[in-house]
Amino acid sequence: MAEKILDLQNIDTFYGGIQALKEISLHVDAGEIVTLIGSNGAGKSTTLKTISGQVKPKSGSILYNGTEISNRAPHETALSGIAHVPEGRRIFPKLTVKENLEMGAFSVKDKRIVKERMERVFQYFPRIKERLSQQGGTMSGGEQQMLAIGRALMMQPKILMLDEPSMGLAPIIVEQIFEIIKELNNEGITILLVEQNAFQALSIADRGYVIQNGKITLSGLGKELIDNEQIQEAYLA
Ligand code: ATP
Repeated sequence: MAEKILDLQNIDTFYGGIQALKEISLHVDAGEIVTLIGSNGAGKSTTLKTISGQVKPKSGSILYNGTEISNRAPHETALSGIAHVPEGRRIFPKLTVKENLEMGAFSVKDKRIVKERMERVFQYFPRIKERLSQQGGTMSGGEQQMLAIGRALMMQPKILMLDEPSMGLAPIIVEQIFEIIKELNNEGITILLVEQNAFQALSIADRGYVIQNGKITLSGLGKELIDNEQIQEAYLA
């Protein structure tokens, strides 16, 4: 039987008096690509932030390999193998590309290991290698997205959570990024992908969840959801 690496049960998350997540239950099996799709303000980013510990759920449970993590701080979830690439990328604009990558491996003291991990990042993103001394903030949008993913890979995550990696990028770059997400998954990294670009996300996902107004309203195999009429009307038009 497939093993649940991540298991959210009845998660309620509030911002002050506003309830952003309402009894969210979803799971990700080890080795899967799972996507969470939904329109603006539906609660996608909040779901990832709740998992990574940036916001605390008021109630419910988040199990990571069977261990409760809903009270952990963001650096603890990161160290335990859950990498979160936030919306809008958030690289360090004043630091060089190399320094940005090094920040991703902040917990690793052995320089040789840091270098080895960097070499692996270059295998996925050769462009980054050509830009090591450039200031992060001067890279193009697509390059910054690649750097943000590269920085997350520096901690050798078990789960990579990506928040709208396609946002604001040209279609050809989006395609490259989705190809790399598939490759990373083939290498054994479990992926939780938040997207407004529902078609592309469902095309690469094993399974998907639809979130509306903070609630999961539909779930199924990626292939099934692409053919679902409700989804076609709402998200694929
Ligand atoms: P988008 O695609 O626009 O980023 P989303 O599906 O990721 O949308 P969230 O950012 O998770 O949605 O927002 C869910 C709800 O929570 C929205 O109503 C939003 O206004 C609210 N919200 C998000 N962040 C905060 C905050 N820091 N303070 C108050 N309300 C917030």
